[in-house]
Amino acid sequence: MKVVFHPRYHEVYASDPAAAPGRLEPAAALLAARFPFVEPYPAAEEDVLLVHTARHLTWVKQRPHTYELALLAAGGAITASQLAAQGEKAFGLIRPPGHHASPDSSWGFCWFNNVAIAVEKLRRGGAIARAIIIDIDLHYGDGTANIFARVPEVVYHHVKGMGRQDFLRDLEDFLSRQGDADLVAVSAGFDRHEHDWGRMLKTEDYRSVGQMVGAFAAAHCRGRVFAVLEGGYNSDTLGESALALLEGLEEE
Ligand SMILES: [Zn+2]
Repeated sequence: MKVVFHPRYHEVYASDPAAAPGRLEPAAALLAARFPFVEPYPAAEEDVLLVHTARHLTWVKQRPHTYELALLAAGGAITASQLAAQGEKAFGLIRPPGHHASPDSSWGFCWFNNVAIAVEKLRRGGAIARAIIIDIDLHYGDGTANIFARVPEVVYHHVKGMGRQDFLRDLEDFLSRQGDADLVAVSAGFDRHEHDWGRMLKTEDYRSVGQMVGAFAAAHCRGRVFAVLEGGYNSDTLGESALALLEGLEEE
């Protein structure tokens, strides 16, 4: 397991909760004690254009600082996905998040759809054909769903449930219906934690999610799995939740 991280992710590029000062520092410190870190390069414009319109790219470019960080976040997802394609599990501790970024628009603290760009780059490059994107964020990743709405080779699933057991059962049911794929990507938002906006999952539930996804990837995707950060606004629980997910993924 490698963690993809860049010190510039600490920069405050906007005034939304995803860009809040100090949001990633505790998580970075916790994960650095456990996993090797890899520093990514920014994504290229042509990478962004794999899933976004030129109009949207130009719109984000009007905010130069946000634009730089959004390219670096997409680059972080690309690096994590490339590690996964090579058989090394990876987690992108990145911001800004991306799952609310559609081809021609974005909202919800998102600018470019990091996970979609990474998956599409692997697909266009021929490294993979079929991918499964599992979104465990509190919020539905409308951007990711829109981007792959007419792409049957990429399945998007937002895990939901009225309680902890319900949530884990939804994930289990979804995975039981899936056949083989070349890769699993996890849109890892931690805002469903009991001490975050969603007020539901315990830290140990993220370990269960990791175990289920890791076991599925081992059985159906040659172990190829990566995750990237989406939401998660309690900086005290973000790190332990991410650590639980990654340890679960490694256990298989
Ligand atoms: Zn969210």
